[in-house]
Amino acid sequence: MAKKLANVNKNICVACGVCALECPREAIRIHNGCYAMVNEDICVGCGLCKKACPAEAIELKERG
Ligand code: SF4
Ligand code: SF4
Repeated sequence: MAKKLANVNKNICVACGVCALECPREAIRIHNGCYAMVNEDICVGCGLCKKACPAEAIELKERG
């Protein structure tokens, strides 16, 4: 299991979908067209979504 996990700030996310396109694991879906949701079982914490997000809505957090 990866140590880190992408975490979306739903209040900042504008649901553009860029992160979902960039994720090499297809771990992100846009929930009801409102915000990005990360599948925690699939995310490997690579950070590509964070780099790609134009709204800076994604942070990497340590897994608990
Ligand atoms: S950190 Fe990597 S694997 Fe996880 S959601 Fe972002 S792009 Fe996908
Ligand atoms: S790239 Fe950023 S703003 Fe766009 S859907 Fe993903 S988290 Fe939301």
